[in-house]
Amino acid sequence: MSIPIYQNTILLAPVSILKKMEALLKKFLWEGGKGNVHRIHLISWNKLKMPYKEGGMQVRDLANQNLAMGAKTLWNLIAGKDSWSSKALRRKYFQGDRLRCLDNPIPRKNGSPIYKLCLKALPLFQPNLHWIPGNGKKINLWKDAVMGEQPIGQNTGIQNIKEWAQNSNLNSLWDISSWEEDGSWKDWHMDNLPIQLYDEKKCLLSLLQGKTPSSKSSHDKRGWGQRSGSYSAKEGYKVFTSAPHVAPNPAAWTFIWHYPFVPKIDFFCWTAAHKSILTGENLKNRGMEGPSRCPLCCSDEETIDHLLLNCPYLKEIWAEVLLLNIEDLAIHQNITELFATWATSSPFGLHKKDLLKTIWMWAPNNMAETLALWQGLKQAQEMNVHSLAVFGDSKIIIQALRTKKLPSNIFLIAIIKKILLLAAKFTAISFFHILRGLNAQADKEANKAAMMDMNTLKVNGRDSICFFPHWTPSS
Ligand SMILES: [Zn+2]
Repeated sequence: MSIPIYQNTILLAPVSILKKMEALLKKFLWEGGKGNVHRIHLISWNKLKMPYKEGGMQVRDLANQNLAMGAKTLWNLIAGKDSWSSKALRRKYFQGDRLRCLDNPIPRKNGSPIYKLCLKALPLFQPNLHWIPGNGKKINLWKDAVMGEQPIGQNTGIQNIKEWAQNSNLNSLWDISSWEEDGSWKDWHMDNLPIQLYDEKKCLLSLLQGKTPSSKSSHDKRGWGQRSGSYSAKEGYKVFTSAPHVAPNPAAWTFIWHYPFVPKIDFFCWTAAHKSILTGENLKNRGMEGPSRCPLCCSDEETIDHLLLNCPYLKEIWAEVLLLNIEDLAIHQNITELFATWATSSPFGLHKKDLLKTIWMWAPNNMAETLALWQGLKQAQEMNVHSLAVFGDSKIIIQALRTKKLPSNIFLIAIIKKILLLAAKFTAISFFHILRGLNAQADKEANKAAMMDMNTLKVNGRDSICFFPHWTPSS
């Protein structure tokens, strides 16, 4: 990105170039920058450009960045170091006094690329330009914005005094100021003010608060943005891009970004809160697959809220993670609201990091195998099998069951303990480790189950077929 920065400061970037650069950035984010891989872009680029607080990732808007950097040239024309290039630009394209040269750009059909960039940035730059009073000689009392505030001339409460002052040739801050002997500002003065305008004078004085000249000998200056600020491309970019936008749920974004955890998990939470992860429902909406069906419980559509919160299988996991009974589990119906709640309170006595760490530990290596074994034993028990030989290709699990030496992950331990309790109820049970290659038959069966025709399933599925051993909430 650093190579185009210099060009960005002096030339107006062609739209086609900006589009190409944006395409490269998008590809890098969603496809890992790999040449011939095409992956779905989950969240629109416009959303990504929003601030973190509004659900975006603060990705730079290249066109606005170009304008914000170009506006630095405008600032230099009126307030920065008066270089030879500023002088040349002023002479050729702008007219009048240095401090006021931006008020009257000389209209030209063609100009240098620098001029084109300046002209494009001017409408965004100018509304935030204001005056910082020195002696007030150059500042028009009625028309100029002073100290970051709007011009006071439009104010309806001072129309009569304004008319009187203009007729008396009182037009600048200087004209209505009086000075101490040492040259510092003393007070406002309006000689011969008719008595009927005294009320309006009060109103005028309140409008002039904070706009007093500093001293008789200092010059007026230009400021930008905040009261006495000078222009910076960073500040300019912020102002140029701030569109009034109401974030649907700012607290959720705070939860996701304020306490960073593992980046890929934060990223996942973020895509989930946008309801953009590729669930069956989203694939269906994109016209890629259908109908959508939760592959875990097969009893509902695979929406994000179902997959992460409401699925009976997931509720079981939540209960384990939060160390609660499943009956006591009160989980939000909506994932964004859940994140929002967690932003303001630490639910169940867990902070975000601890909570995510706990969930993360729930997915260690071998977790799937261990859960499958547990379900398998439960089913064997239901089928009144009394003696059983178990073959598995996960060495750690088989060894743990044979030697009763437990692995380090507390969740694996919890499930293995459950398996051992269950195993004790069989008359005869043995565990054998086999190599993955020899487990081909089981693998084939699993694949066959996964390949079953989704279309035969019904949405509210009482008579649906389940690919997985049915999950019953257990103790
Ligand atoms: Zn489900």
